[in-house]
Amino acid sequence: MGLPVTSTGTRRARRTGLVFGAAAALLLPTAVPVAAEPTLDLDETSVVEILLEDRDELERLVELGGDIAQLDPVDGGGFVARTVVGPYDQDVYADFTFGDVLHTESDAEERLAEREATIERLRSEGDSDGEVGIRSTGEDLEILRADYFEGRAGDFLSVEVRSALGQDEDFRLTVERDAGPGTEPGDGGSQTLAPFVDVGVYLYHRGQARVEERPERIRVTDPSGATAEAEVTDWLPDPETPGDPLPYTDFVNAYMTPDELYDRIHRIADEYPDIAEVVELPHLTNGYRRHAQAILGVRPDGQGAERGVIVESLAYGHEGGNDIVVDLIDHGDPDAALSVDVEGDEILVRPATDGAGAITTTAAEVVEAVNAEAGDLVRAFTFRGDAGEGVVEAERVRADDRLGAPEEVSREPATVYGLRIGATRDGSKTGVLGYSQEHAREWQTPLVTLETAERLVRNYGVHETTTELVDGLDIFLLPSVNPDGAKHSFYDSPMQRKNMVNHCPTDGPRDQWAVQGGGQWGVDINRNYGTYTLWDGYAGASFDCTGGTFAGPEEEGPLSQPESRNLDWLVDTHDNIAFSMNIHSSGDYFMWSPGAYIADGRVSTPRPSAMEETYFWEASESILGAIKEHRGTVVTPARTGPIIDVMYSAAGNSGDHLWYEHDVFAWNFELGQAGFQPPWEEAHAQGMEYANGLYGMLEVALEHQNDRYRPRSEVTPRPGGYDGPVEISFGTNETAEIYYTLDGGRPTFDSPRLELTGVRGGPESLTIEETTTVHWFAVDIAGNVEGGYDPDGSARNHRRGTWTVTD
Ligand SMILES: [Zn+2]
Repeated sequence: MGLPVTSTGTRRARRTGLVFGAAAALLLPTAVPVAAEPTLDLDETSVVEILLEDRDELERLVELGGDIAQLDPVDGGGFVARTVVGPYDQDVYADFTFGDVLHTESDAEERLAEREATIERLRSEGDSDGEVGIRSTGEDLEILRADYFEGRAGDFLSVEVRSALGQDEDFRLTVERDAGPGTEPGDGGSQTLAPFVDVGVYLYHRGQARVEERPERIRVTDPSGATAEAEVTDWLPDPETPGDPLPYTDFVNAYMTPDELYDRIHRIADEYPDIAEVVELPHLTNGYRRHAQAILGVRPDGQGAERGVIVESLAYGHEGGNDIVVDLIDHGDPDAALSVDVEGDEILVRPATDGAGAITTTAAEVVEAVNAEAGDLVRAFTFRGDAGEGVVEAERVRADDRLGAPEEVSREPATVYGLRIGATRDGSKTGVLGYSQEHAREWQTPLVTLETAERLVRNYGVHETTTELVDGLDIFLLPSVNPDGAKHSFYDSPMQRKNMVNHCPTDGPRDQWAVQGGGQWGVDINRNYGTYTLWDGYAGASFDCTGGTFAGPEEEGPLSQPESRNLDWLVDTHDNIAFSMNIHSSGDYFMWSPGAYIADGRVSTPRPSAMEETYFWEASESILGAIKEHRGTVVTPARTGPIIDVMYSAAGNSGDHLWYEHDVFAWNFELGQAGFQPPWEEAHAQGMEYANGLYGMLEVALEHQNDRYRPRSEVTPRPGGYDGPVEISFGTNETAEIYYTLDGGRPTFDSPRLELTGVRGGPESLTIEETTTVHWFAVDIAGNVEGGYDPDGSARNHRRGTWTVTD
């Protein structure tokens, strides 16, 4: 590793330059090993491309606590992981290869300036079901998907194929495509598919290529010469008849702070009391506040660790902690004894001296004396568990919480607010939840929930679909789940992802922020939930208190944070909530469970049933079709599906918690390709298009609630006589599950069920080897059973058929 950076880009990872600014650079120890040539040299926290050769490297990055903002597979295997790296943790990633620096904290300043200017101006103005048309002709090759789509970036063909040989070797598949009706495979060109292997487990081959014409058919060939053909289906085609456009849209003008978001939803509830109310979540956050710290002796790079003394105020910074001064005095008196006096907010440390008046007191001695004499004001500790045997140096330091928000921004524990919209809010209607900003720095995500809220109330009674949604559903929208972190991101540390609580021990990096700057403390809310967690051995989170995916203190267990408990409370209290969307950035993803696996053997959390998986793909079409309507953004098939199939494992995430623990259809958006805090024009467009998507989910939920139709199943080939084993497959007129028996028994919900043939596969079929009567019924996603059959009753009005096999 450590290859030189050669590609061109907007902004390169600098390979030379000063690390901590000129003054600090002079303090760098000269003993830095020259062989370890720095490949990255950041002076502020940045989103950096890390170029990963394969899944192993990705796993290593995740294991190091890599704060991955977006993960893009690249042709030829490997990934580009857009990763948040700070100047003080870049060493951790030293042996990775870096690409461009995409986004820095200074960019956030531009965003804020833009926001200020806007506020100023405003003031002054007052298919995808995996079966249709897809046919496998080769035993070794199963074409899972062949999707054509037209998007903003051009026209593409995306293909996914499972190969029976895939487990063993790292080989490519060739896809030849025709050039439209009447042409042959190959006439339209060809593309290759690379294996998608995750933690050593082969899943399928996949690849996407730009095409000139819409191909009708493809032929896939493997290295052994086996082939398979399939028809190409349309992914998110433009609707033939445009929908019913919303009269009123576009209610967001600028990025908004949590206080502004909460004010806004209160105003909506005031203005529309018949259809909207504010929901106050019960668990207060810890607050946008910190204890102030003063650091003596130790340098940002850890130099001087042995003489380092950290003093932390007991009061929060704004409650007096910021007034505390520690004065370690070079008094020059010979043969003095160590003493500590407190005068008001000042802690005066007079170190012991030798006969010449030179200081002899060690850091450990200062720590002990400060704790003994000033223990009402502060706690003191040595640097990260160092024995503190170095002799201290004179220094006068003021403690600081380094929180820069204006005074009117509350430091107190915060109430998290949501907005509940619906004409009937008594729990009798299907509940739908949209929540955003679990991750503080994802400033554009609240725009989606807020825009959706505004559209619902302002188009109610005016627009037919909106009126149906508000009349028929019980909608919960949480614009900012993590307000403390969001304030910190706005006012101090743009790359803040987590909440604000410092769980680091005094013999660990508890001083990290005060010594090093940057917001690295806090718990990753989206790893702190209670199902399939890091505590259970699932991958993609860490117990490192400064790691990007810190799941919370190990001893406290999951759901330790008020932010995650709030969401859990909401779905627990309102058990009519049956659909949810967890809104993040970035990458243009649409995902669902499973969202985690145990890395060893890639043991996934339970997969959705065949029906559920098919239902999710169907829902994708309307949700993603709605997104595309705004400006042609296509969430591609490769970025649609279970989190672990299209991205990575994320132990303890909220989507899994809602799906497995609360039986909610729990989905996830990742907005845009432009990272966090894109320029306003882009953020605005993302807010609009994904609000369309959230509307799409509301329509899916309403349709689910209104589904009173019983499914009908059909079997091919039909029952009858066959002169050899026969493979029968079931179809249904709507998405439904098939339960069956082969022993003549009455089918129930405990009977075997047709499952999927594997990751991204279609439903399985049954092979009848000898004469058998199959008994079965279909049940749809809303629980309607074929023919009114009651699986829990005793009547035998289910479906049955006999296939007679003669040799
Ligand atoms: Zn996120």
